[in-house]
Amino acid sequence: MRCVNCRKNAGYNRAVIELFSGVEIGGLCMNCERDEFGRHFDSSTDADRCCSLCNRDGQVQFPRYVPETHVRDGDLVVESSIETGDAVPCLCDEHFHELLEEPSRPRSVTL
Ligand SMILES: [Zn+2]
Ligand SMILES: [Zn+2]
Repeated sequence: MRCVNCRKNAGYNRAVIELFSGVEIGGLCMNCERDEFGRHFDSSTDADRCCSLCNRDGQVQFPRYVPETHVRDGDLVVESSIETGDAVPCLCDEHFHELLEEPSRPRSVTL
């Protein structure tokens, strides 16, 4: 799973899923989530599937991977599933394309 923003391995942070088709487009790594959205996603409690950055309809959702622990043959097995529900943050198509097209820039700029 590659991060849609930096193209590096996204790990098990968030999946990127197209809302209408349900197709998984990629992932979003922890660094990009923090750099691009800061706390926007944390405070997302919208039940309306609105974009986290504006109030337009969400086109893409970013569900978190949730580790689930199962006991199998007496062993603890951890599997990751994708969170569901209305609190999953979304982006509209415009903000999602901004995320895809934004060139990586140095973030420690000395003035
Ligand atoms: Zn990334
Ligand atoms: Zn938006």
